[in-house]
Amino acid sequence: MTLAHMTQKTTAVERILAVAEPLFLAASYANVTMDQIARKAGFTKGGLYHHFPSKEALYLAMMQTDLAEKQALFTAMARSGGDCRSRLRCLTQAFFELPDPKRQLISLVRRNSNALGDAARARLISAYQQALPNQILSIIKSGIRTGEIQTVDARLLAWSFVALVETAISAHGDRVLEESGKKLDFVLDLFFRGACGPKDSGLGQAATTSTAANSGSAVTAPTAYTGTGVFPEWQDQDLAGLLLACRDLVEDGDFPTVQRWRDGGGRVLGHFQVYFPEEIAHAAGLLPFKLRGAPVEPDHADSRFGSYLCSILKTSLELVLSDRVELDMFVTHPICDAARNLAAVWERNSEHPCQILYLPQNANSADSGRYLRNEYARLLEVVQQVAGTTITDDDLRGSIELFNRNRTLIRELYQIKRETPWLLNAEDAYCLVSVGGMVPREEHNALLETVLPMIREQADSNQEDRIRVVFEGGFCEQPPLDLIRMVGRSCYVVDDDFLIGLRWILEDVPSTGDPLHQLAQAYLEKSSYSPVQHDLRKPKEKMLKERISAARADAAIITAAKMCEPGLEEQVCYTRSLDEDGIGYFVSEFEENMTSFDHLGLQIETFMENLMYQ
Ligand code: SF4
Repeated sequence: MTLAHMTQKTTAVERILAVAEPLFLAASYANVTMDQIARKAGFTKGGLYHHFPSKEALYLAMMQTDLAEKQALFTAMARSGGDCRSRLRCLTQAFFELPDPKRQLISLVRRNSNALGDAARARLISAYQQALPNQILSIIKSGIRTGEIQTVDARLLAWSFVALVETAISAHGDRVLEESGKKLDFVLDLFFRGACGPKDSGLGQAATTSTAANSGSAVTAPTAYTGTGVFPEWQDQDLAGLLLACRDLVEDGDFPTVQRWRDGGGRVLGHFQVYFPEEIAHAAGLLPFKLRGAPVEPDHADSRFGSYLCSILKTSLELVLSDRVELDMFVTHPICDAARNLAAVWERNSEHPCQILYLPQNANSADSGRYLRNEYARLLEVVQQVAGTTITDDDLRGSIELFNRNRTLIRELYQIKRETPWLLNAEDAYCLVSVGGMVPREEHNALLETVLPMIREQADSNQEDRIRVVFEGGFCEQPPLDLIRMVGRSCYVVDDDFLIGLRWILEDVPSTGDPLHQLAQAYLEKSSYSPVQHDLRKPKEKMLKERISAARADAAIITAAKMCEPGLEEQVCYTRSLDEDGIGYFVSEFEENMTSFDHLGLQIETFMENLMYQ
């Protein structure tokens, strides 16, 4: 198609959509016909169908085009400077100042939604959410964070605000409030001060949650784990139900447990891969949330990074930019150039503090322990400010003990993988560990204490003669769950480095003495390995072979995330070393949002068959 053709086509579509708007505003959806639209646009009916196969497609395109324009406008308003109230004012004013027909168009979302099919209705509602409620939501969330708004469910507040705006522009609102300045004051005053008389100007008791009414100061006291949990779906389930709940949670790109923690008044420290001393966040009452990217399109984050970088950087930032998760602090590490640069990009694009934790570059230096202890102390200061609390040594010791218990339970899970892999498939094992990075560790411990006996008690009759493999390459960006599932169907995955940070420390950390020193020593002296930690005492190829040997594995799958320099470099060392020892291996790459595994699956099956025949 030539440029001239494309331009003509765009112009024709624009003309059709422009004439359709007043027709749909003036009549119900059912009463607007394709004939009418064709005549108004100067097309034959056939010409109109050439551009839009149905009235529904035309209507959807019209609404989506309009909502995309509104989204661009409201996003800019939501990101304008100032406090929450002034940003809400900017956004609402921009809405009130739209030309009447454009303003009214948004009311069609509700008016005509029942006339559409399920798929079209879902797309329309999603476009509407992105355009308006989500922009209000992001302002309200930042208002809650700064203490300008009470700790109330942010989504409820956003919907309430939208309802107030709709009330102000109703026919009755037009009569009573007359002009847009009065409407603006009405909406903002009612939202921020309520309808109480002068003696009581708060939002009122009905709107507050029982957990964390904010006194109005910038920092609230931390909310410790209450035992009620943010992940109730696993409780009172049989083994199949519990594993399903974990899979559902791991696959949920909206991270509902993090939102529930926030809804209860808690604050969240997000940390990037690979290892982070989560005990420090826990001791401050924060939820340590392990950011491991997600299989989402990086629509907002893509423009912030070069195309030559790995996916996890983009999708981790995307989670925050698209309001899927809300953090109070973010910590990254200079594990590679890409992750180091992430800090600068993150800081510019988010409102919460962002820190780089400088883990020692040379783990073999005599000073590395002292250095790391002091680096943890520096970070602890920032964590205290974010949490609005003081962390005592006893707090830290309590957290160390809790995390020791968690590490013990994860070790037990891996023991099951190694000794009886037919009792727990690769995918479920992954999900059970992964949940630990997104719920309070107390809850993860309770879950593992419940599920491990259930796994062990299963009938031991499903054992098959399968190849046993170690899966290597999941230390930072995570392979898609479907890939793990596919591999697990071809062989027993008896060990791996998925989310290695959650089991980085191999033994209990002493809960005596200086806790920061103990954590630093454990990081250096009692730890696993990964391509991003350089320690001459732990040659990675030697460590891999020890992992293979301890798991009595027949072979290894050596993967790396696309564009991951450390992972791809290490593949060379791993394979050379495995060649020397005659250990079979399969090399591949993955990307967290890949969706097609047919080709890879065939290759892996062939690899397994070859091993079998050998
Ligand atoms: S996947 Fe590799 S390149 Fe990307 S952040 Fe992690 S270590 Fe760095």
